[in-house]
Amino acid sequence: MKQSQMLIPTLKETPADAEIASHQLLLRAGFMRQNASGIYSYLPLGFRVLQKIETIVREEMNRTGAQELLMPAIQPAELWHETGRWDVYGPELMRLKDRHNRDFALGATHEELITSNVRDELSTYKKLPMTLYQIQTKYRDEKRPRFGLLRGREFIMKDAYSFHADQEDLDKQYQIMYDAYTKVFERCGLDFRAVIADSGAMGGKDTHEFQALASVGEDMIAYSDSSDYAANIEMAEVLTADERPNEDLLPLTEGENNEQQNRSLNYVCFKANEKLVVVYVRRDDEINDVKVKNVLEVDMIELLSDQEKQAAGLDPFHLDSEVIVLADNGVKNIVNGTLHVEETNKDYINVNPERDLSIKSFYDLRFIKEGDPSPDGKGRIKFARGIEVGQVFKLGTKYSEAMNAVFLDENGRTKPLIMGCYGIGVSRTLSAIAEQCHDEKGLIWPVSVAPFQLHIIAVNSKNEEQMALANRLYEQFGTRYEVLLDDRKERAGVKFAESDLIGCPIRITVGKKAEDGIVELKVRRNGEVIECQVNELDQLID
Ligand code: ATP
Ligand code: MG
Ligand code: MG
Ligand code: MG
Repeated sequence: MKQSQMLIPTLKETPADAEIASHQLLLRAGFMRQNASGIYSYLPLGFRVLQKIETIVREEMNRTGAQELLMPAIQPAELWHETGRWDVYGPELMRLKDRHNRDFALGATHEELITSNVRDELSTYKKLPMTLYQIQTKYRDEKRPRFGLLRGREFIMKDAYSFHADQEDLDKQYQIMYDAYTKVFERCGLDFRAVIADSGAMGGKDTHEFQALASVGEDMIAYSDSSDYAANIEMAEVLTADERPNEDLLPLTEGENNEQQNRSLNYVCFKANEKLVVVYVRRDDEINDVKVKNVLEVDMIELLSDQEKQAAGLDPFHLDSEVIVLADNGVKNIVNGTLHVEETNKDYINVNPERDLSIKSFYDLRFIKEGDPSPDGKGRIKFARGIEVGQVFKLGTKYSEAMNAVFLDENGRTKPLIMGCYGIGVSRTLSAIAEQCHDEKGLIWPVSVAPFQLHIIAVNSKNEEQMALANRLYEQFGTRYEVLLDDRKERAGVKFAESDLIGCPIRITVGKKAEDGIVELKVRRNGEVIECQVNELDQLID
């Protein structure tokens, strides 16, 4: 492509509201633009990278035998009522009504949809196993959309769902998907760890997250310095102690419970790092005034400095006004690190995973510290921050039972389908790559996902010989590589700076020595510069 004809709106200044490098650089290099909080357009360069990632995901998914399909983003509320998630998902689920006043949700995830699609089709064991996936736009009204594509309200996800006759078969597929995810993220050039994770609101048991290592990551990983052990910190303690000691949990006085509220909704107060932390339940999006007042008197926000919060693995961004952790009846739920809602009136529960996670992390840190021996007996615990780019779950029968998705087994018995689900944040992966692959001059794309592999720069586009050679190289390499030709009438300095900003892996500069057939090749990753004859380029680029 010729740069003079492309939409690459670079910015000289760093946008004020972009806090982290990937967000700043993707805006500055003209890869994307924000249209509303957490909602973005992918401009031509950004879209090319996105498509590269999608292709990698697609190839690895197809290799496992999974079949691609496409489901609607708009989903009828009835399906979400079947599983009860219409009530428990909370304000993150974007809801709307049609002209007949019927309720719909914009898909935050597609377990209900896929289960409704297959429940009448996979009716015998002979049709199992089956894995289906899509690459599609998801909607989550995140409390704090931020960091560009890392936490969007509209984002692109690859979601896959597998259906099995027995647990063994699910275990097999889980491992296949785990391996495919490893390939995907390796091919994307990411430095990542697969970590044991918490299944959270998804339900199910076994689950791993794929965490791209980055200091701006919102998750904290505990890993061993001399084995493969790695866990999201919210799960780490489960592996070190059977149960957390309950003595530290002191329920607050009953008097603070409002009569209209479910009696089982309680404050829980515990000591963490010698600080008093109060956890309380809120209903819907409204925080009960009385509660807030009481809680704020011993609010950990008052007690912890930003530094202390960070040291404890809490992200100060999450906790700028109040402490909120959602637990229905206190101890048990926090101990298990999962919100259990069975014993409580679901209307009272408003799941806010972001905040929930923060407090869980904090709590868990009491039981696992950097330098502790690790859970598998090998090495010592270290902490790192991660960006969750993917997650694999063994769902079991949660959705199939709720939605009556059953099959006939070999003995003619009716059984619920056993399910797995597997997500990759495609747009989040894009920004995670940018977060790991950049320097002070700009982006440094791995070849596998680069918007263009070669960037040819004609230093002086008014010089006929330079333009002729640049054009010739553009034609020649264009048959084998994706080439961006900077044919703009810009100053050389601007062209070089923008080329570094955009970050194609290899730059070929056609300058004064063009008449002698000499050009300059520069490797963006390490800055290596080689002056060479045009006929040597082939060999050098390979
Ligand atoms: P997080 O913990 O960051 O909120 P999640 O656990 O809620 O993510 P999943 O339900 O596991 O997300 O969805 C699968 C994948 O989708 C995640 O691993 C992540 O890569 C991506 N994803 C989730 N939420 C967002 C978002 N708001 N913006 C971009 N990508 C997202
Ligand atoms: Mg989430
Ligand atoms: Mg998560
Ligand atoms: Mg997840």
